[in-house]
Amino acid sequence: MEHELTYADVLAARDLLAGHLPVTPMWSYPALDAVTGATVYVKHENVQPVGAFKVRGGLTLLATMAPAQRARGLVTYSTGNHAQSLAHACAEFGAPCTVVMPATASMEKVRAVRALGATAVLHGADMAAAQERAEQLAADDDRHLVSPADTPALLAGVGTAYLEIFEARPDLDAVVVPVGSGTGAAAACLVAAKLAPDCRVVAVQSSAAPAAHDSWRAGACVRRPDRTAVEGLATGRGFTLPQQLMRAGLADFRLVSDTQIFEAQRLLASHAHTLAEAAGAAALAAVLADPDGFVGQRIAVVCTGGNASAAEIAALADRAADAVAGHVQD
Ligand SMILES: *Cc1c(COP(=O)(O)O)cnc(C)c1O
Repeated sequence: MEHELTYADVLAARDLLAGHLPVTPMWSYPALDAVTGATVYVKHENVQPVGAFKVRGGLTLLATMAPAQRARGLVTYSTGNHAQSLAHACAEFGAPCTVVMPATASMEKVRAVRALGATAVLHGADMAAAQERAEQLAADDDRHLVSPADTPALLAGVGTAYLEIFEARPDLDAVVVPVGSGTGAAAACLVAAKLAPDCRVVAVQSSAAPAAHDSWRAGACVRRPDRTAVEGLATGRGFTLPQQLMRAGLADFRLVSDTQIFEAQRLLASHAHTLAEAAGAAALAAVLADPDGFVGQRIAVVCTGGNASAAEIAALADRAADAVAGHVQD
């Protein structure tokens, strides 16, 4: 599968999004700088509607579809933020939306998708089964099937976050991006090549679900077990389009443990008054895991999302209480 996606598509996406989404803030926090030894800018995608950067992609996709195609409806498969992003965008454009979710998806997420007006179909034990069902539904009713990662318009939209980052800070040494399927990191590569060619784009994934990392290292899409508890990063395979762009532009791809990600999530709460979902803290986890690699540098970490579940918030509170009691060092 060959894909056309250029920097010009990202610029066009920004125009399309202008009436829908404001620029998100990017702040640094002295307490966080003190812990990392770097100047860390947190890009706050957690404040987006639906709570994650993916909404940029969903809205761009809908805005670029022909009205007749939108009217026939869209079908996709997802357990989490992609589902909410597409449901939100379809509601905004008045398009029917069906999301196939594995039967194991949390009721919280199913509820969120339904509240956005989409149809949630629960099917199968995993994403592969959900994908198969979505393909069937789309074919049966001649509806548009949306791959969560091999869809150029999604990456073009997601790339607008990196226009904002590099325009605000043209002097960054590195930008660190959490990866599941790789749309965010791939778009970062595309934009950095134009606006900040000296800035390293560093991807990070959970070592408990390393499919994108291993695909990048192998130079081919591979499947890997998905055992991470970090929902936004949970994926079992590499995706062609993001891998292609990451191969061209990524400086490095790191792995961190789920435990390191949860610790970074706690630090965002205590040092940057930010409630991130765990996936949104993975970039900071990569910086904390390699202090020597980032010391003295200007780094953007993308806080990709804030959709922490009630269970996640309860666990975060437990870790914060441990830190207060002195069991964890600040
Ligand atoms: C989807 C998601 C990611 C991973 O993004 P990809 O584009 O799939 O690599 C990271 N963080 C959050 C909060 C997400 O929703």
